[in-house]
Amino acid sequence: MGTSFNPMRCRKLPNMKNKLIAVCVILASTHFPPADAVETEDMVAARQWIFGAEFVDPQSGALPGDKVIFSWLSASSFAVSVRGRVFMLDSYLTRMEVERGRTPLVLADLVNLNPEAILLGHGHNDHADHAAYISAMTDAVIYATEETCGTMQIDFERMAVDPRIQDHADRAFPENATLDCVPVTSSGSVPGTEVVNLAFLEPQACVTAFRHLHSIAVEPDSDFPPTPVEIIVDERDDYLFPHGIPLWPSSRDGEPVPTDDRQFNTATTRGAPGGADALFFSFLLRDGSNFSFVYQNTAGALKEGIGRNYEGTPETGQRIVDLLEALAPTDVQLGTAATGNFDNNGLRDLIMYQAAIQPKIYIPNHITTGTRAREGSSLSVYAGYLSQMDLMNVPPEARPRLHWLVDPVDYIKPIVFDANQASWADPGKESALNGYCAPTGSAEPAPVSLIRAD
Ligand SMILES: [Zn+2]
Ligand SMILES: [Zn+2]
Repeated sequence: MGTSFNPMRCRKLPNMKNKLIAVCVILASTHFPPADAVETEDMVAARQWIFGAEFVDPQSGALPGDKVIFSWLSASSFAVSVRGRVFMLDSYLTRMEVERGRTPLVLADLVNLNPEAILLGHGHNDHADHAAYISAMTDAVIYATEETCGTMQIDFERMAVDPRIQDHADRAFPENATLDCVPVTSSGSVPGTEVVNLAFLEPQACVTAFRHLHSIAVEPDSDFPPTPVEIIVDERDDYLFPHGIPLWPSSRDGEPVPTDDRQFNTATTRGAPGGADALFFSFLLRDGSNFSFVYQNTAGALKEGIGRNYEGTPETGQRIVDLLEALAPTDVQLGTAATGNFDNNGLRDLIMYQAAIQPKIYIPNHITTGTRAREGSSLSVYAGYLSQMDLMNVPPEARPRLHWLVDPVDYIKPIVFDANQASWADPGKESALNGYCAPTGSAEPAPVSLIRAD
């Protein structure tokens, strides 16, 4: 329903052959209507704001072809440039307001970023808010579970008839706006059974995805004591960073009543399907020294095989562990440090994912929102992570190098990796590129086998 593959558009051509760039320039100079609502000037400004002016071409908005850059946007959301290909991981922002405030971003910044794709780790509102709006405004293709793609269509249709959006020239959908959402896994699929490659970053990178488990509280694990660390919110935070006007009032206290003309509703529909169906994404660059990273915005109970809406068995968890272990060696893990299991088992589940992935570098996410995490709580989550590592006796050599993030100071600070740095090279990556990452030639999600039968 409402799902289609979005062919390359003019604005995506910088990654293609030179003669196609020429075609694009001719179209632009003969005043054809833009393919979407984003003007180049606005895109340059937003990309300079989000990635740093030093990494953005001031004329074209292009990003460097030899780097991978992450920019944390709050919550579990990142803007990413992979060798100049710009996309988003999640689309929700913590404390999105009508003006830049504690979170130094407004919705227009995300639209003007002009991402070519939005990957949703799952459909809960603290991940998927605004995705349908950004997609409608930019032609960004959403990659999500089939359940969440259905919800994105519902969101799109609601916004398409919302006068608070469509009666304002600066927020209205462009003419002929569509929602492009590609289902990564099929409705009701069993976690870990459908593994697909996504072509959207070709030929720069192989992207592999599968369903895994959403975090959930399970019985305290007798093998490891829960962390004694509590989640503590910095009590200075509210005083130092007074709240502004939210982009849309919270629906937690009933039907939202807007009080300001700048407010409009781009949240995802509460209670719609797909909320807790979670996707794990892996990225392996084809050239240079094959830099690799993974993204997950939740971490379920691998040991018990249980997720928020999937009551599996230890075999379910082991199936996912097998997939994680079969991935090419991972340089950077962008992984959740929030969990609904914190009170019972600390960050045990994250650390079990890490044991299977063995990332060189760990960058946390989900530290400004969640069951327990809040704005201003990142340092206590950090202490909890270190404590849990000790409780589980993870040896120093098995621990990733930490690149912890603290809000709001680490928002939109470029985190830059040289894709050609020799130390990323690994024979395991080459075999992955010839194995599950061998080009499929398909524009649609292509089933692949991560685990070789032998
Ligand atoms: Zn969730
Ligand atoms: Zn969440």
